[in-house]
Parts: sequence; C-alpha cells; structure tokens
Amino acid sequence: MATDYDAPRRNEADELGEDSLEELKARRAEAQSSSVDVDETDFNESLELPGADLSNEELTVRVLPKQEDEFTCSRCFLVQHRSRLAASRGSENYCRDCAA
Ligand SMILES: [Zn+2]
Repeated sequence: MATDYDAPRRNEADELGEDSLEELKARRAEAQSSSVDVDETDFNESLELPGADLSNEELTVRVLPKQEDEFTCSRCFLVQHRSRLAASRGSENYCRDCAA
C-alpha cells in the first residue's frame, strides 16, 4: 500500500491494533505537551526581563537627582518640595515636620 510509506506511524499502529493506536496518540500528546513546556519555560525567561527592568526603574528613581524646586531634609532625608522647607542652616535644610 503506497499510503503506508506516506504515514509509517499509522501503518505501525494498524499492525499493533487500535489500543496501540490510542497509546501512540497519548505518547504523541505527551511529546507535544513536553515541547509546550519548553515553550512556557522560554516565555518565563522572557517574562523575567520586565522584572529586571522594574529593578532598574527602582534604581533610576533612587539615582534621580532632586529637582530645583525640591530639597533634601537633613534630618529625615526625604526629598520634599521647597514649599515644605521650614528651616535652613548653611547647607542643611529641614522640612516642616523636622523643624517643628
Ligand atoms: Zn524632614
């Protein structure tokens, strides 16, 4: 039969019977699902990249220099808007909370 050469797996299944055909189908499904698992792993690896980017964003926020209208409180070390500047001693600035 010419079709047997085109579909050797099917021929093998025919020789072994329908039960074996079901077994082959199950094995094929397992092989497919395992290959899908590999793909999922790849996806997870690619998903880790945005997470790494997030940590970089945190770093960017920390490194971000204070704006001209902001000051760093010398006591609580929070960068606050100049409107909250309550006291200045040389290069030291204190926010309303700390100067009170
Ligand atoms: Zn303060």
